[in-house]
Amino acid sequence: MQLDTLTLRVAFAIVAFTLALLFYFAAYRSTRSPYSGWWCVALTLFLAGSASYLLDGTAHQVWANPLGSCLLVAGAVCVWGGARSLRAPRPPSWQLAAAPAVVTVAAAFDSPAVNTWSGGAAFLALMSLMLGFASRELWRLEPGYSRVRIPLAIVSGLLSAYYFCRMVVYIGEGPNSKVFITYFGSAVTTLVTMVLLVVVSFSMAALSSEQQTRALRAVATQDGLTGLLNRAAFVELASDELQRLRRSRAAGSVILADLDHFKTVNDTYGHAAGDAALQSFAAACIGTVRSTDLVGRYGGEEFIFLLPGVSPDRAEAITAEINRQLKAVRGAGGARMPTVSYGIAPIGHGTPGLDELIATADAALYRAKSLGRNRTVLGTDSPQSPK
Ligand code: GH3
Ligand code: MG
Ligand code: MG
Repeated sequence: MQLDTLTLRVAFAIVAFTLALLFYFAAYRSTRSPYSGWWCVALTLFLAGSASYLLDGTAHQVWANPLGSCLLVAGAVCVWGGARSLRAPRPPSWQLAAAPAVVTVAAAFDSPAVNTWSGGAAFLALMSLMLGFASRELWRLEPGYSRVRIPLAIVSGLLSAYYFCRMVVYIGEGPNSKVFITYFGSAVTTLVTMVLLVVVSFSMAALSSEQQTRALRAVATQDGLTGLLNRAAFVELASDELQRLRRSRAAGSVILADLDHFKTVNDTYGHAAGDAALQSFAAACIGTVRSTDLVGRYGGEEFIFLLPGVSPDRAEAITAEINRQLKAVRGAGGARMPTVSYGIAPIGHGTPGLDELIATADAALYRAKSLGRNRTVLGTDSPQSPK
């Protein structure tokens, strides 16, 4: 069977163009999900890259051929970016630009005026790599994510493997060999890529709206100033965690922290400096605890931690580490970071509920304040007299 490459390419262009419009108007405009945004850009780059190759054989080939490879690799980078956006922040720009830059340079030094496969090995290797990265990102998503990501992970993995085989045959046999043209030439590649597009369009709606839902949920559970959990979210997550700890009879600690004489910071340096101090404190907390620990903003300048598996002694060491990090911070306008008082409640066997733990930590915190502030006090299991 001989497939007509030109016909296939036209069909591919129409499919890709239609999908780009659909992704833009149906998914991106309504959800603003980064995932759909990345795919709109990816499809546009695929289309522009294929169009550049149409200038092969003309006087423009010398720049159009390297440009085509650059755009296609950039498209594959966006496929990776989209997959990655489902679980991580946007990668730095140099990481996005590296692969297209490499392939452009490789092609520019490979007689692009006469060679329609200029930089071919680098192009095939990078396409394989980027699609492989995309597949890996989709596999690595937590199981809670919609299952439509699985066929997508499989297809991008297969496409990555296909590009890898293309590269091997390209290097071994050359682009004009019979085996390359029959199995790895433009016609087959166009068909295989179309399969990827079909699977992407199948998963687009689900993944976009899921990403949007997660972003909204993150906003609803976060404290706007510090990015820590807000009080309600902390209480909800901590109650669940506490039940887990009780079932497994594991220990842990709850810490309440209150910045000392914080009102003076506001009064002396202004409210903005106060806000910056709260943010610095939050950053020191995040920099000290593990990602599995819970940290929340409990009130104005009060913070709360739940540290599973952490003994009270270890919790005390953690407060010392936070203080150490705070000392290094220089506030805006020369404002000094305030000191902090901490109260620790141990979570032991037969521990009461979260409310009682917080009461214990609060009583310890009150003692820390009355002992002169800037210190950590260990609470006992039974709450002391209320303040
Ligand atoms: P103590 O050592 O006894 O804790 O004294 P303090 O001044 O820290 O405690 P107090 O409760 O008297 O004052 C807390 C201050 O925190 C009052 C309030 O204006 C300020 N505050 C609460 N939330 C914010 C905020 O989001 N930003 C800023 N800049 N200040 C805040
Ligand atoms: Mg307070
Ligand atoms: Mg205070």
